[in-house]
Amino acid sequence: MTGLATRPVVYSFTDHRVHRQEPPLIIAEGDGIRVRDVGGREYIDALSGLWHANLGFSEPDLIAAATAAYAELPAFACALGRTSAETVLLAEELLQAAGGKFRSVYFGASGSEAVESVLKFLWLAGNTGGAPARKLIVTRDSGFHGTTLGAATLAGIPRQHDGFDLPLPFTVRVPRVHFYRDHLDGESEDEYVARIVRTTRERILAAGPENVAAMVAEPVMAAGGVLVPPDGYWPAMARLLAELDVPLVSDEVVCGFGRLGHLFGYQRFGLEPAAVTVAKGITAGYAPLGAVLLGADLTAAIAAAADTHGVLGHGSTFGGHPVAAAVARANLRIIRERKIYERVAELETLLETSLEELLNLPVVGEVRCVGGLAAVELMADGVARRPFDPERGIGRRVAAEARARGLIVRDLGDVIALCPPLITGATEVMEIVSKLRAAIVAAVTEEA
Ligand code: PLP
Repeated sequence: MTGLATRPVVYSFTDHRVHRQEPPLIIAEGDGIRVRDVGGREYIDALSGLWHANLGFSEPDLIAAATAAYAELPAFACALGRTSAETVLLAEELLQAAGGKFRSVYFGASGSEAVESVLKFLWLAGNTGGAPARKLIVTRDSGFHGTTLGAATLAGIPRQHDGFDLPLPFTVRVPRVHFYRDHLDGESEDEYVARIVRTTRERILAAGPENVAAMVAEPVMAAGGVLVPPDGYWPAMARLLAELDVPLVSDEVVCGFGRLGHLFGYQRFGLEPAAVTVAKGITAGYAPLGAVLLGADLTAAIAAAADTHGVLGHGSTFGGHPVAAAVARANLRIIRERKIYERVAELETLLETSLEELLNLPVVGEVRCVGGLAAVELMADGVARRPFDPERGIGRRVAAEARARGLIVRDLGDVIALCPPLITGATEVMEIVSKLRAAIVAAVTEEA
């Protein structure tokens, strides 16, 4: 079985230098929130795969839905004026679950494709709707929105661009929201929010709001470090975007489908996006699917574009795959019937109270928690907000020590991200946090 590790897989988001020393983890099976590798070792996956296996790794109702869908119609495309019944039913159910705020659904096969698609739709809408100058997209430092050329351009994380001839020149970059790291000494949360919203305003005004097509943002940044916004941030941003007439696209690829305790993360913050992009949790990770829920304006613009351009020159073979659609419908049913939002509220409290105990480690500067997302910020001196030298790779060491203890987490620099399956119970949260504590202590001790 060890031979598997040497097979020629290109691992995404992986430092291939590290892999010359540490073998990749090859997983053979899953059970609840646990996975087992090919050597029989068990791990709690506290990242839910790649922020996507929201119901764990052995949900029988999702497996049954996929099996039934395979028996009925194993392949079809959503193109050329044709699609599968499951795909149409899913679109209707999504629109209904979103409370009538959106008018149509475009299906792709991934989050990147959803984000890429919404960019193209925004430009199409501007071009055919008398606003061809509206090309710029407002995007935040530390943001992550996928890896295709347009989606990767939006990223505010340098390694998404370095070596790839990116970013393309269509962004207005504005500050991230990270109070703990970015506030000035003595600055209150309200003052900090006012300052970054003021900077956002200045940057949009400098670019010219008439040149801006939209802002694309995650309600809570996940890959950027699980950055939970202070209470005042989104209300102030919503006012700013309304004032400058900039539509919001809520990137819900991680935040959607229960992760923040609602169908969509924007609902938690009372936002009114013009469109939302989803993927990952839409099928709880059991089949590849992405989608864009389009509001009235974008829906009408796509319809109107036919008068200018005829055939919509955009689509993909696997978008809205019938089996993925059936799985997503089953997932929506499970979320409703098993009261997943209530479970997430309990999970949030459990994560919050148990992670807070890590604050008595001097190298833990902050813990953040919202819904089923959490982060532990590692600092050389947490109180003085003095970061570790990034060269020391403390985050990576903690993740490696966690793995050695049977726990999968993600190191985002020196932030340890947690995104456990939404079904994670109290005992399992305790186990995650106790393994994480041991991993932090071991990594720092080994380092000292
Ligand atoms: N948008 C956000 C917010 C994401 O976190 C991700 C992936 O992590 C994407 C888009 C891209 O999704 P995918 O990996 O399915 O292409």
